Amino acid sequence: MGRPIFIDRDGVINVDPIGDYVKRWEDFRFEAGALEALKTITDLGFEIILISNQAGIGDGVYPESALWDIQRHMLDVFDRAGIRIRASHYCLHGKQAGCKCRKPEIGLFQEAVRGLSYDPGATFFIGDKATDMEAGRRFGIRTIMVRTGHGALDETHLEDAIRPDFIVDTLKDAAALLASL
Ligand SMILES: [Mg+2]
Ligand SMILES: [Zn+2]
Repeated sequence: MGRPIFIDRDGVINVDPIGDYVKRWEDFRFEAGALEALKTITDLGFEIILISNQAGIGDGVYPESALWDIQRHMLDVFDRAGIRIRASHYCLHGKQAGCKCRKPEIGLFQEAVRGLSYDPGATFFIGDKATDMEAGRRFGIRTIMVRTGHGALDETHLEDAIRPDFIVDTLKDAAALLASL
């Protein structure tokens, strides 16, 4: 494959309703500049893989059908904007399920690259939470933290072991950073 890049959804691409979940498309709001950023990342030749925890499904807060409805609408918008998404990997388990895919576990990443060859040193995970930075680090790739979503708060209590390679304000800034590397 080309060069994969892993990107979290809530708090990075769309506004994370902190303390709640995105339960339906009507509540889904793109972060400012996110579409432009994803277009830039597409045009840089990255294969975008979405990696997202959706514990609200396992915990019974919203049905799985809502996730796929949101996904369909989101991909429609991406299509119209010239954004290509190679794959989306979601953990649907509840927070206490003890699964191997809920970040900071790395099951979703492993699933995404199964059977593919790629250069771990040339890829990144862009996320907003400390647990995203932990997952990316565990998976052995570089990490970029954005200050949207939980980022501004989580940035203040990062342990050294999970400190991101880069911290930027928004996904748009992350795209500009990738373009400059
Ligand atoms: Mg997030
Ligand atoms: Zn899971």
